[in-house]
Amino acid sequence: MQADANSSQTKLAADALGPTVVIGEILVEIMAKSRGDGFLEPIELIGPYPSGAPAIFIDQCAKIGGSAAIVASVGDDDFGRINIERLRSDGADISAISVSPDYPTGSAFVRYRDDGSRDFVYNIGKSAAALVSLTAEAKALFARAGHLHVMGTAFAIPGVWEMMDHAIGVIKQRGGSVSLDPNLRKELLGHGQTRERFARLVDVADLVLPSGDELSVAAGVEGETAAVAALFARGVTEIALKRGEHGATFFGADGTRLDCPAFRVAEVDPTGAGDCFGGAYVACRRLGMPAFQALEYANAAGARNVTLQGPMEGAASRQQLDEFIAATPRDVR
Ligand code: ATP
Ligand code: MG
Repeated sequence: MQADANSSQTKLAADALGPTVVIGEILVEIMAKSRGDGFLEPIELIGPYPSGAPAIFIDQCAKIGGSAAIVASVGDDDFGRINIERLRSDGADISAISVSPDYPTGSAFVRYRDDGSRDFVYNIGKSAAALVSLTAEAKALFARAGHLHVMGTAFAIPGVWEMMDHAIGVIKQRGGSVSLDPNLRKELLGHGQTRERFARLVDVADLVLPSGDELSVAAGVEGETAAVAALFARGVTEIALKRGEHGATFFGADGTRLDCPAFRVAEVDPTGAGDCFGGAYVACRRLGMPAFQALEYANAAGARNVTLQGPMEGAASRQQLDEFIAATPRDVR
């Protein structure tokens, strides 16, 4: 992998400007211990584990040393408390997590089938997770934030677009930046105004972190090269493309391309890899690391997370990632 001098320059706002803020769902995940189809008979379960894509992202962002905060909502229950405690102890700002006296913390029961696909039972839409709103604490946080990270999973929350518009306005005004993890199925774009709103987000994003064909969905153009060019034409300045067990690639608007081969790991639980990748990447870039180094840490954060059971359990400190990188073989290209 070659480090181009220009790829050291990022348009993302420096960490010192203020925290990376994410808006979205906090959940617990409860997992079936055995593989099989669904939850139609009594089975052994393990959990609760702290979860929710935005929560995993921000936990990894904080744990690697980035300034990090989340706007979210939990219930006044133990599922909420374990999440708040995990985020707090890993260094995230929890001042804009509201606690609902009326609704329980969101949850997801998950069971893997033999073929690796998953069955879920969710309680999100009617849980505290859906109550995220522009509270006084959220406004105060946006007013001192340096970066907004937008995750497609949050689009289901009522009122989230208005919150994101507010946050983007305030944060861009103070010289902050925006990243986007589309995390979006093509079919979702058909709902209401989602396509137009999503396109507006792509237009304001400095960094996009797609996984697989989310790249062409975000760009609205098929084919990797054409999609990358289309995103740069719309003002995106860097792309970190996630390739699962095949590693990741950085594309810079100046034409730089860096391929990062995957770490060879035994996958125990793939949930959360993309979120850990994103949290590490955004934190490292905002802390001033060159693209190749940020990509290396992100790649390691994603790979390490799949080796542990529980979606957030693999989020790692910089020292843990250094140890992982030193000890883990790589795919040779
Ligand atoms: P998620 O399933 O959490 O939505 P994603 O689809 O957004 O994830 P992935 O590409 O699955 O993202 O994973 C993110 C990164 O984590 C990859 O780019 C890679 O660096 C690392 N990674 C994920 N799975 C593996 C694996 N099995 N082996 C090695 N590295 C992996
Ligand atoms: Mg994904």
